Amino acid sequence: MASDRSSPQLPVSPLLPPAPAKRRAMQAQRERDTRPEVDLRRELHRRGLRFFVHRRPVQGLRREADIVFVRARLAIFVDGCFWHSCPQHGSMPRANETWWRDKLDRNRARDADTQRRFEEAGWSVLRVWEHELTAEAADRVEAAVRDSIARQATASSSPPGRVRGK
Ligand SMILES: [Zn+2]
Repeated sequence: MASDRSSPQLPVSPLLPPAPAKRRAMQAQRERDTRPEVDLRRELHRRGLRFFVHRRPVQGLRREADIVFVRARLAIFVDGCFWHSCPQHGSMPRANETWWRDKLDRNRARDADTQRRFEEAGWSVLRVWEHELTAEAADRVEAAVRDSIARQATASSSPPGRVRGK
């Protein structure tokens, strides 16, 4: 599957707020199948990991994760540096700065809210930046899958009635 998105990290026009219809679409869903995300999925698959793509893992919550490991109860988000304000590459367009600042602030708040809700539902969340090297991101995901599965095993083998702290 060829990718024709040569620079997924930048919006089509970073200087102008998009038209209202486009704006609603952007708020409703994350960018999908960016190059870094596709590369990461390919690498994870090559390492023998199996997962779901673009799923809403938490019942009743309309939030989709990019990569979902059901048994490990682990959700992976591949965050674009611009849209999710990467500390290294995040930038603020000069034109319409107020609109963009508000938009990017809301993205950040939504990311934090998603993470909180997932964790409350017993899911672990791992965020990967699109600028990360594929192999290093895959290493982090692999380690998180192992940790999460171990945690699930510990949780399910706890004696009944025992209250587990967080
Ligand atoms: Zn970055």
